[in-house]
Amino acid sequence: MLNIILLGPPGAGKGTQAARLQAERGMIQLSTGDMLREAVAAGTPVGLKAKAIMERGELVSDAIVSALIGERLDAAADQGAIFDGFPRTKAQAEALDLLLTERGRRLDHVIELVVDEDELVKRIVGRFSCARCGTGYHDTFRPTKVAGVCDVCGSTEFKRRKDDNEATVRTRMAEYRAKTQPILPFYEARGLVRRVDGMAAIETVAAEIDAILDGTV
Ligand code: AMP
Repeated sequence: MLNIILLGPPGAGKGTQAARLQAERGMIQLSTGDMLREAVAAGTPVGLKAKAIMERGELVSDAIVSALIGERLDAAADQGAIFDGFPRTKAQAEALDLLLTERGRRLDHVIELVVDEDELVKRIVGRFSCARCGTGYHDTFRPTKVAGVCDVCGSTEFKRRKDDNEATVRTRMAEYRAKTQPILPFYEARGLVRRVDGMAAIETVAAEIDAILDGTV
């Protein structure tokens, strides 16, 4: 049962790869961003606290996101986990260690998706997803085959994230550089970090990640 972290700035492709691994390997995608967006949509106390912070592109408190992860891990005791967008700070990395040890799990890989930030802005501004099945698209790079119709489920309803605008994306990148990138040495010291070129095609990135998980590289 593998437990892996996908690390990289917003738009690096963490969500795309995590969703694929979940579908193909019976692992569970644990995305704190998705959990927080659900909480905001449902108007829960966590959602009410997180909404404005997320709209600014800043980070929600370590305690809130660590608690969300703990709950989801408990609900998926027999599945390998893909941490997507968590941990984002040193405190979260330490909290994750504890959450895993308490549950008899251990971290197998930290996969860093290495990307070019200016390209990322283009990738993020333009992305949208199906409101029914969640499949991700992009105006330029991955449009639907038939305009306005989801390739997968046929729905004609789509949504765009409120924080996918250029100003907020720049803040999210700055948060990544200031708070998330500095946790890499923490994992490097344990020999866990593997780097993948996140600018390559989705299938190429997928193949490289698969090789790491299968222990063939
Ligand atoms: P994401 O979907 O991962 O890009 O996350 C969207 C937003 O949710 C971020 O810009 C943060 O405001 C918040 N968020 C998601 N995950 C975390 C986390 N691990 N720690 C703090 N804030 C988070």
